[in-house]
Amino acid sequence: MQVFKFGGASVKNAEGVKNLAAVLQQVGYENTLVVVSAMGKTTNALEIVIKNYFDNKPELQSSIQDVKKYHNEILLDLFENTHHPIFKDIASVFKDLDSFFGRNKSPDYNFVYDQVIGFGELMSTTIISRYLNHIGFENKWLDVREFIKTDDYYRRANVNWEQTQSRIKANFNTKILNITQGFLGSDANNFTTTLGREGSDYTAAIFAYCLNAESATIWKDVPGVLNADPRYFENARLLNSISYREAIELAFYGASVIHPKTLQPLQQKEIPLFVKSFLEPENAGTRVGKGMKIEPNVPCFIVKKDQVLVSLSSLDFSYIVEENISEIFKLLHHYKMKVDVIQNSAISFSVCFENTYSNLERLLQHLKAKFKVTSYENVSLYTVRHYNEQAISSVETGKELLLKQLTQETIQIVTK
Ligand code: ADP
Ligand code: ASP
Ligand code: MG
Repeated sequence: MQVFKFGGASVKNAEGVKNLAAVLQQVGYENTLVVVSAMGKTTNALEIVIKNYFDNKPELQSSIQDVKKYHNEILLDLFENTHHPIFKDIASVFKDLDSFFGRNKSPDYNFVYDQVIGFGELMSTTIISRYLNHIGFENKWLDVREFIKTDDYYRRANVNWEQTQSRIKANFNTKILNITQGFLGSDANNFTTTLGREGSDYTAAIFAYCLNAESATIWKDVPGVLNADPRYFENARLLNSISYREAIELAFYGASVIHPKTLQPLQQKEIPLFVKSFLEPENAGTRVGKGMKIEPNVPCFIVKKDQVLVSLSSLDFSYIVEENISEIFKLLHHYKMKVDVIQNSAISFSVCFENTYSNLERLLQHLKAKFKVTSYENVSLYTVRHYNEQAISSVETGKELLLKQLTQETIQIVTK
């Protein structure tokens, strides 16, 4: 059994869907599960729909139309015949969306978010499954929510491994080509849940784990894992191999090519992860495996933009001790801030984090009651693994440094 994951970028238009078929043709698709994300930027577009719904905006309908139009254009390109049942399938997804908004009474943003955002994956997989059948690649469409069970922590649900494992064991046909959605699961009441943005890589890992797959492959618009994000760094180099440990570290620090939760289930069963280019499927890409040496051994650069740096000091010059620190962390957790770096001295405490859910103002208000607070928004956090002098100076040069922290293998620098 092999598990493939195709992300939004790989299926952003009809050409992408055709390319997915070409990749399957080239590498083989027996005993295969293909996990697919929403097409292109559909998830972002649905986030706008959800916001419009909650804010009672008149733009609600036009934002839904944008999503509809985008998918219809892809359909028209893939299926010449507009009587093909897929047109009805997709129209009915939009009916379901309308009817959900019509009947919903829940004021819980996170709950509503998860009920709506999954339409992106449901549409992409329906289109791709139908298209593959249309061109003769027999396959089965699966509703992932019948397999992946989670708690009801909407927008960042936790997998119930026992139930997920037993459902996959009982109901999955490993002999054929299966197509399913990334990112989604369902809770005990069968409401849709999601695993966190970009969570489809994790879905692939969950299935690989439960199916004892031979390998998992995530198909990307880059040749594999590079030593830097090519959008921000010149001359990024392909890493031919890295260990699970290295991949976990890179993903944790923000190398967005792999979702951080992906590695842990794979590593537990030592299932190799391949990161390959969907444009050059014949190339080896990156192999992530047990004890693999990083090859070539070069510094790896990660940048996270739009972070927040908050520095706190006590109002009365007293020490910042465990009690204050535990209170600060409680607040960070309460406001769902994703903490990147912390640094403390006798009377000050600095923390760099991501304002994921736009709770910064409320957090700051809370903190100001207790501490003297200085905050910087839109700062960049650079992490360099396996750093050397040259790597550090290439990051620091020409920037205002706000914080710097070194460990044996990793340096982190916050700049304005
Ligand atoms: P998907 O379509 O699967 O969601 P993403 O767009 O999330 O794919 O991930 C691929 C992108 O990750 C690349 O286009 C690249 O800009 C970015 N990226 C960030 N860090 C790295 C890295 N170290 N190596 C390769 N790509 C990286
Ligand atoms: N479609 C979801 C997102 O954009 C999940 C994923 O792409 O992995 O976050
Ligand atoms: Mg993505």
